[in-house]
Amino acid sequence: MRILLVEDEPRLSEALTYILKKNNYGVDTAYDGETGQAMAETGVYDLIILDRMLPRKEGVTLLKELRSQGIHTPVLLLTAKDSLQDRIEGLDAGADDYLVKPFSTEELLARLRALGRRPSGQIQDEQLNVAGLILKPLHCELTQGNETVKLTLKESLLLELFMRNPGQVITKEQILDRVWGLDTDVETNNVEIYVHYLRKKLNSPNVRIETVRGIGYCLKEEPNVP
Ligand code: CA
Repeated sequence: MRILLVEDEPRLSEALTYILKKNNYGVDTAYDGETGQAMAETGVYDLIILDRMLPRKEGVTLLKELRSQGIHTPVLLLTAKDSLQDRIEGLDAGADDYLVKPFSTEELLARLRALGRRPSGQIQDEQLNVAGLILKPLHCELTQGNETVKLTLKESLLLELFMRNPGQVITKEQILDRVWGLDTDVETNNVEIYVHYLRKKLNSPNVRIETVRGIGYCLKEEPNVP
């Protein structure tokens, strides 16, 4: 699961990034509203944590513009204000939830999990199942038959992307955006290396990652294999 964090206070941004990564979320950061909006418009994020008071574009304005463009990524709005009027304004602008600073790590993580469970959001359950292959993205745990293995965060993000799109061809560029983030110098041969790692950990006879030459990869289900 990939989160976009738009927060201009460097220390808070750093602390949140640390907490989120420790809890197995992929994180990209923006420090002002305009950059945050440009990143959000790419549509690669599962969730956006958006500060209200931002330089260059205010959080609520940014949010209204995103929603008017049809971008419905769930948004958790962070704010220093706590009046009923502010809450209503934030929710009216299209925020899915609202968290008042200062907040505890536990509360933030609970809110993120709750947003992830909402059927209207793009995030689905915390457990993905494709042909008996079960992934818990927030735990980086893969279960096949009665065997459970730990994946690295990148392997888990990669498998999550495949399992949310079974049977679809995913390009190497899409994989780079979703797994490594937009702001990366990583090249596509890293994708090949991680697909190789992941294939070594997959031992289900019913699912395999097929190479689509020159383009990318596709998670194939083979339910008839005994
Ligand atoms: Ca701020």
